[in-house]
Amino acid sequence: MIPDLRQIPSVERVVQEVERTAGGRYPRALVVACAREAVEDARARARRGEPVDVAVPALAERVRALAARRAALTLRRAVNATGVILHTNLGRAPLSDAARAAVLDVLSGYSTLEVDAASGGRGSRHHHIEPLLRDLTGAEAALAVNNNAAAVLLALAALASGRQVVVSRGELVEIGGSFRMPDVMAQSGAVLVEVGTTNRTYLHDYERALTPQTALLLKVHRSNFAMTGFVHDVPVSDLVDLGRRRGVPVMYDLGSGCLVDLRAHGLPPEPTVQEAVAAGCDVVTFSGDKLLGGPQAGLIVGRARWLDAIRSHPLARAVRADKLDYAALAATLAQYRSPESAWEQVPVLRMLAADPDALRERARALAEAAARILPPGWQVAVRPTAAAVGGGALPGAELPSFAVAVTGPLPPDALDRALREQDPPVFGRIAQDALLLDVRTLLPGEDAQVVAALAAVCAPGAAAPPG
Ligand SMILES: *Cc1c(COP(=O)(O)O)cnc(C)c1O
Repeated sequence: MIPDLRQIPSVERVVQEVERTAGGRYPRALVVACAREAVEDARARARRGEPVDVAVPALAERVRALAARRAALTLRRAVNATGVILHTNLGRAPLSDAARAAVLDVLSGYSTLEVDAASGGRGSRHHHIEPLLRDLTGAEAALAVNNNAAAVLLALAALASGRQVVVSRGELVEIGGSFRMPDVMAQSGAVLVEVGTTNRTYLHDYERALTPQTALLLKVHRSNFAMTGFVHDVPVSDLVDLGRRRGVPVMYDLGSGCLVDLRAHGLPPEPTVQEAVAAGCDVVTFSGDKLLGGPQAGLIVGRARWLDAIRSHPLARAVRADKLDYAALAATLAQYRSPESAWEQVPVLRMLAADPDALRERARALAEAAARILPPGWQVAVRPTAAAVGGGALPGAELPSFAVAVTGPLPPDALDRALREQDPPVFGRIAQDALLLDVRTLLPGEDAQVVAALAAVCAPGAAAPPG
């Protein structure tokens, strides 16, 4: 029915109806906002000459649906079928079973966060990860903070505030969300002295920049882009030699922070934390939720002398990690005591190492399960794809993978949107006029959830979600 505008009830009338039928379920401000939206939408449709039910009960029903949607939690688990392993927008690294169990344990009650259970006296939260990181990396001391940007900020504030830090122009990276590491570094109060050019920096560039004001030589790993062609970099061991000769400490921001040799699984090499420590770096910083495969965290390892200064700086309190972080981090690090078990149990490593033949088999099984439940008109096919590491690690590395390509009556973008509205939401990617669901980034057990989401979305009569 195309209504006359005068037939559309007032917002207040619709609010009253919702309060009569669902009173108390939603805050009044939310009900009013949704009623306004429903009434305005009805007016707009009526003006366009579109049929719309403007009876009070129908509008109240629409308000209840809008309110339910807005009252739902927006942060929840999602299925990553994008083929991008460290997908920053999807929360980077998924935790291992052991890390999840540790978080659940600590979160279920009180915890031994800052108490020494043996003596009953005061303990330190650092104690939960420092011995692990010392054993794994060979460093004298270690510390965890909120994320790697905070680790870099804190280390520079503690070691170089008001003094100079020498860094190559070719290593001044922008990380996600348009944040630039040089801007983060400047907040520490250290003065960045850029040397070399974008593509070529030599040891003598660093050497010439040294003054009595130099507090630190800084190397930053190009974790999210690659440079090829006419390029020259200074190996970190040469920087360490220079630092030793001139009495200046060397800090290395590794970004990703890998603890295992990726080449063992046919992947491109990535500098490991152990190598950076062995090369003699005084301070090394890296992320907890990139290649390490743990929770969001920034890890700092290095010489006790510098770590003591970093740990006792006032900013350390401002950027400290919380107990859930420590629980997940300690459990993740513990898995690296045996690199083989890390490759089997840390999801990021398992996804990196997945065998393409096994992925093809998995995609085939998923396609068959989908074909059995999809109504006529829908097609599924297995397609080879190139998965990516993402999240500022191994730039340009392509991992051979397989996806289930879905096509049918809904255009790919509508199908994509509908899958994102499921519970749990499923994220794929659109390519060559199909929606691709890559199996490399699916966790165990998620294949069935993808099939269930497809079944719900493609069922005849399933309403396309409102845009
Ligand atoms: C990712 C990255 C950072 C920032 O790490 P977060 O843990 O995301 O804060 C800093 N430096 C480099 C080189 C990086 O790759």
